[in-house]
Amino acid sequence: MISNKFYYRCTDCGSEYNNQEIRYLCSKCLTQNRANQPPKGVLKVIYNYQEIRKTGSTALNSILKQTDYLSLLPIEHLSSLPPLRVGKTPVYNISKNLKIKESNLYIKDESQNPTFSYKDRASAVVSAFAKENGITTIAAASTGNAGSSLAGICASQMQKAIVFVPAKAPLAKLTQILMYGAQLIPVDGTYDDAFDLSIAASNEFGWFNRNTAYNPITIEGKKTAAFEIVDQFPDKLPDYIFVPVGDGVIISGLYKGFEDLLELGLIEKMPILVAVQAQGSNNLIQNLNSDNFLAKTSKTIADSISVDIPRNFFMASRFIKKYQGLVSEVSDDDIIQASALLSKHTGIFAEPAAAAALAGFFAMKKQNVLKEFSNCLLLSTGSGLKDLSAVQGILNFPHPISLNLVEVKNILNL
Ligand SMILES: *Cc1c(COP(=O)(O)O)cnc(C)c1O
Repeated sequence: MISNKFYYRCTDCGSEYNNQEIRYLCSKCLTQNRANQPPKGVLKVIYNYQEIRKTGSTALNSILKQTDYLSLLPIEHLSSLPPLRVGKTPVYNISKNLKIKESNLYIKDESQNPTFSYKDRASAVVSAFAKENGITTIAAASTGNAGSSLAGICASQMQKAIVFVPAKAPLAKLTQILMYGAQLIPVDGTYDDAFDLSIAASNEFGWFNRNTAYNPITIEGKKTAAFEIVDQFPDKLPDYIFVPVGDGVIISGLYKGFEDLLELGLIEKMPILVAVQAQGSNNLIQNLNSDNFLAKTSKTIADSISVDIPRNFFMASRFIKKYQGLVSEVSDDDIIQASALLSKHTGIFAEPAAAAALAGFFAMKKQNVLKEFSNCLLLSTGSGLKDLSAVQGILNFPHPISLNLVEVKNILNL
């Protein structure tokens, strides 16, 4: 990249780097990183906000017109983005459907992305960045969605994707990766193992690495939903936004997006973000206020937020503290119930990680934490079709009947 449109700043030590070469973690912090600890040195992309402010109010406001976030993206041309429609996902008011009276409940349905999850936002910008930097091969480690997303986006951009996954990833996600023609590398180990191996392989073989947070461009991609939310709530931003959290990149991306707009004076205040984790994978919440990060082995039905070492722990926890975010832990049972309720009453079938946002809303409501008559927005991050086995246990598949009305009557209990 030759422009000086942006530079990088280390979240931890504040070191700054220009964008003349590909950057991952801060090279000063990198050497202090230890096994079983979240990495220090995740880089934040910083724009020349003063220059952008100078462009005048018309240009500033057009930043928020969909498709025109270019001045706040680390790329030069919108044409470098994939031809597939990424983002621009719908928001629905589901208060009536769920009989919620004390607040307005909205949902932003990210399953409407090309590969059916929020991850496409990061893959799209990483892919465009790679294209502008003459890179043709991109590797990533994934619990499934980042990999299927990278595979699909690369297919649309004629780039090569190499995806490391834990061998136990849900079948639909593995199927997507193979259908999109990516090189699939299942590893005998956890997501965290796949993460480390993919970095070692990228270094060895010279691939561009899309690993979440490790590659700062992923955060820039994930922030784009914040711009859309501002656009979709023109009168008043949601008071609370419920975000399922694994590595903490989506939530940091949202904070970063809103922060960019605060810098430009385009919004007045930060909404309250609620970090929702599964009780069985709560390392970000549990370590929020501790000096020594202790990683518990994660176990939850919500595979997309099942993470031992949140890769963006330090950035996410700084954001949550700085902007007084809230946290909520939900059980697998709560998640599955929320998923069933959401499907049944709204027609939106969310994967468990995504349904966790609704479970988090119910938990906070029950604890009376939410202000009355607040506007609440759920970020539904992925499609339920990605993990059918997660909900099959609560369903009764009826037996086939013979071709007569008596059996129809019987099955209807008439
Ligand atoms: C990746 C993912 C998340 C969590 O995002 P992080 O950036 O890891 O916190 C939540 N839901 C779905 C469906 C995901 O794929």
